[in-house]
Amino acid sequence: MEIERPRSLDGALAALAAHPGADLLAGGTDLMVEINFGRKRPEHLIVVQPLAELRDLDRNGAVRVGAGVTYTRLLAEGGGSFAAVREMARTVGSPQIRNAGTVGGNLGTSSPAGDALPVLAAFDATVVLRSRRGERRIPFADYMTGPKRNARAPDEIVVAAEWRDPGPAQTFLKVGTRNAMVIAVASLCLVVERARKSVRVALGSCGPTILRAGEAERFAEELIDESGWDEPLDVSEAAAARFGELVAAAARPIDDVRGSARYRRHVLGVMARRALERVGSVVA
Ligand SMILES: Cc1cc2nc3c(=O)[nH]c(=O)nc-3n(C[C@H](O)[C@H](O)[C@H](O)COP(=O)(O)OP(=O)(O)OC[C@H]3O[C@@H](n4cnc5c(N)ncnc54)[C@H](O)[C@@H]3O)c2cc1C
Repeated sequence: MEIERPRSLDGALAALAAHPGADLLAGGTDLMVEINFGRKRPEHLIVVQPLAELRDLDRNGAVRVGAGVTYTRLLAEGGGSFAAVREMARTVGSPQIRNAGTVGGNLGTSSPAGDALPVLAAFDATVVLRSRRGERRIPFADYMTGPKRNARAPDEIVVAAEWRDPGPAQTFLKVGTRNAMVIAVASLCLVVERARKSVRVALGSCGPTILRAGEAERFAEELIDESGWDEPLDVSEAAAARFGELVAAAARPIDDVRGSARYRRHVLGVMARRALERVGSVVA
């Protein structure tokens, strides 16, 4: 196995242009598992973990999280408009995994169970890719194309994820087979962007890609239209139940070792109700 350790992003892009499709190594918490279990034997490995250009984290209305930002760094950020990001980062693996694992690695692997991905979907994030040919910006909805498949070209590196600050009404919930160190059986991110009168719900581990629950989003928008976008939402039991049903109906789950499709739909309904109750009352 040939291992290259470029000193700059330009160096990494040049190495990748010379070996398109070479594996990139960031924190190694996905890739090294594949290598150690003999499921992957890359001929060429490009180490991107030390690259300073992938480590920026800007929160100035427009948010930019570099591909090399770890979950530990996300956890160190203040809450507010990062509440769901922090809730997500807290559930990832163990402290060791959070110290090494990166957002870029989650995007690189593109597992439907990747915890950062429902947050990026609900934030309507843009994935920023770079190659020697230039920069490409893809809406998250077009980035992930299937389980462990994405729109990244073989000579491209994910450099960042960007989104518009949606305000503080946001939450991330995850159910696993235990409380810590666990892959999601199902996860959900809900954002109520009051300034734009927009509700967005994204589901993880419940389909081949991260799914948005469009009907549930419209239902919640109508609810908030009635109560007022500047007012806290007092969610009735009936409305919370209907929202849960619509979210569960948007899932395309399968039975697997972690849970049955029926259980996944059930927990999505429960998480959706809790999320709406939690986030509905957050106004500023
Ligand atoms: C014990 C354990 C627990 C875990 N728990 C969780 C969990 O709770 N939630 C969760 O979501 N994940 C979990 N994971 C999986 C993993 O930690 C995450 O997916 C993490 O985000 C991967 O990041 P990394 O930097 O380690 O990626 P790496 O392993 O370095 O790379 C992963 C893939 O992404 C590609 N890649 C890396 N950087 C880039 C880039 N900049 N551009 C393009 N492609 C890139 C690599 O080539 C590789 O294919 C766990 C893993 C382990 C071993």
